[in-house]
Amino acid sequence: MSTAIYPGTFDPVHNGHIDIATRAAALFDHLTIAIYDRPLKSLLFSTQERRAMIEAAFQHIPNISVATYNQLTVEFARQIGAQAIVRGLRVISDFELEFQMALTNKKLAPEIEFVCLMTGQEYAFLSASTVKEIAMLGGCVAGMVPPHVADALQAKFKAGSDRGEESVKLVSLRD
Ligand code: ADP
Repeated sequence: MSTAIYPGTFDPVHNGHIDIATRAAALFDHLTIAIYDRPLKSLLFSTQERRAMIEAAFQHIPNISVATYNQLTVEFARQIGAQAIVRGLRVISDFELEFQMALTNKKLAPEIEFVCLMTGQEYAFLSASTVKEIAMLGGCVAGMVPPHVADALQAKFKAGSDRGEESVKLVSLRD
């Protein structure tokens, strides 16, 4: 059985991630979406919240499961018997980073393959940071995230509350 993981922070999951995972699930018998528990970046959503949003987004795809991990990605892949790690590529700058990570991971785990899928054109601009900044400033994120994620973002950035702002890396949609 072919098994892959799709690792990431998913803070929160957006339609670019969903596109990559849906396409990857068609290539492998099983895909585990692997949520990194303790990234160096500060998070808007807790691990439980990120997990619940991903589970709700993929409940209609039976060969996708969701897990959290906090060790090396290749160690987690080995632990669950995955043969491949899936990543998404948006722009050239993603390629440089992914290439370096793939070569490093290959050194650590030569038996695991890295599969990069190109973003769908309509998602090339999307990142979790962009989505958070738009939501924080009261903009509309419909079409960028599923409705339940849009609701969760709205709840985090309730009018008059600055809760969560420190976790939003500004790419700057305000100047
Ligand atoms: P983000 O970059 O949105 O904060 P993550 O760090 O959780 O997301 O990334 C997880 C994986 O998803 C990475 O391989 C990343 O390149 C990929 N990815 C993120 N956004 C997109 C997108 N819009 N299209 C395709 N792949 C994406």
